[in-house]
Amino acid sequence: MIEDLCKRCGKCCHYFWKGEKKRCKFLVDSADGKTECSIYETRLGTIIEGPDEFGQRIECSTKARTKEWIPGCPYNRPEWLRNKKQQK
Ligand code: SF4
Ligand code: SF4
Repeated sequence: MIEDLCKRCGKCCHYFWKGEKKRCKFLVDSADGKTECSIYETRLGTIIEGPDEFGQRIECSTKARTKEWIPGCPYNRPEWLRNKKQQK
């Protein structure tokens, strides 16, 4: 993945947890109006939420793994949008 393509919008650093949309605690607003990750070098695999009483947790992961279509993200792949439409 070519990281230079990232617009640093921070949209992929939000997630749903127990029915609530949350912003990752490691996401920070930059002076240039964009966002950045405060633990960038060690982010992958870091637990960003949980674990709860059932052991559920959310780890930081790459978009290639989450396969989530995010409007405007240059890393989107057409098949991710198709998957999203099929889920509706
Ligand atoms: S959604 Fe895409 S462009 Fe925005 S921060 Fe994530 S990877 Fe970068
Ligand atoms: S830890 Fe992961 S989800 Fe959280 S701000 Fe950093 S890149 Fe985004």
